[in-house]
Amino acid sequence: MDCKKESNTKYCNCTYPCSRHGFCCDCLTYHRSSGELPACYFPNDIEKGYNRSINNFIKIVNDRGTGYLK
Ligand code: SF4
Repeated sequence: MDCKKESNTKYCNCTYPCSRHGFCCDCLTYHRSSGELPACYFPNDIEKGYNRSINNFIKIVNDRGTGYLK
């Protein structure tokens, strides 16, 4: 399977300067090991705060629902 970096990057809303942009498998592994989720699980206004914790994700979903993920 070829890496889908180019097409993945279209859906990446991460504003942090990072070499994993578009490398979703590496991105997920990195954040999972820290009890976090990747930037794309968060709305843009929250993503830029860089709090990628699962607790923050739950708070956002409880506050806003999941419609922003579509
Ligand atoms: S979500 Fe995290 S690992 Fe993924 S590109 Fe952004 S900073 Fe890098």
